[in-house]
Amino acid sequence: MTLLRFDNVTKSYPGGHTALSELSFSVDEGEMIFVTGHSGAGKSTLLKLIHLSERPTRGTVLVEERNLAKVRGRQVPLHRRRVGVVYQDHRLLMDRSVFDNVALPLLIAGTPSAEVGRRVRVTLEKVGLGAREKARPGELSTGEQQRVGIARAIAAQPRLLVADEPTGNLDPTLAAEIMDHFAALPAQGTTVMIASHDLALVKRMRRRVLVLSHGKLADDISPEELAS
Ligand code: ADP
Ligand code: ADP
Repeated sequence: MTLLRFDNVTKSYPGGHTALSELSFSVDEGEMIFVTGHSGAGKSTLLKLIHLSERPTRGTVLVEERNLAKVRGRQVPLHRRRVGVVYQDHRLLMDRSVFDNVALPLLIAGTPSAEVGRRVRVTLEKVGLGAREKARPGELSTGEQQRVGIARAIAAQPRLLVADEPTGNLDPTLAAEIMDHFAALPAQGTTVMIASHDLALVKRMRRRVLVLSHGKLADDISPEELAS
């Protein structure tokens, strides 16, 4: 099943700069896919169109066959429960515990509190932070903080997870470890799309890669092509 589809998508920012130009591709359910390209190629913009922090100028973005142009107003928070986001700078609440950071989106979504506790603990176990729920993010290493960011994004079991340079601040060993956490998600029902300019890391993952250049799709490389 097609989970995500871009159909001739163009995004021009106010002032006229075109960040994405007539972009078309689709992603199947269960894929782990990378978006790469130089700084300014349009990677962040592509992800922002998926979680609705930006809107296309022309063309259509579909998630689970739903045209995102029709997702407006109060439906936007509902959409964001189906599409999790991980940021490079993790954007954790530094004055709250690890537990609270992961729990907050679930509470906002109206999840019953008993269920919240269970979900948070299961999710923290998955990212190897079961013992750190009471810590504040500032007491954790950078890699652990990014794992909290991942836990927060996957606690609601989104259909799709988008991550913008999630390993940008990490050394290669930690980056590889974080990638392993992402790689485990498709088997749990979450399709994963990761923007990264780190071509060496992307190549090592042996997954499909979309290459953006000046807002255009320059290449769509299959795992088989990467291996050869
Ligand atoms: P990448 O993530 O690949 O670095 P971006 O999607 O952030 O690329 O940016 C693509 C282009 O769009 C860049 O030239 C950038 O300067 C421009 N851009 C991004 N966001 C905005 C914005 N809010 N307003 C104007 N231009 C923007
Ligand atoms: P993010 O990690 O959210 O992509 P960035 O550091 O790329 O953040 O950009 C920070 C903010 O500035 C974003 O809202 C982005 O859209 C905006 N922005 C990025 N490039 C430009 C630009 N060339 N002109 C105006 N705004 C920009």
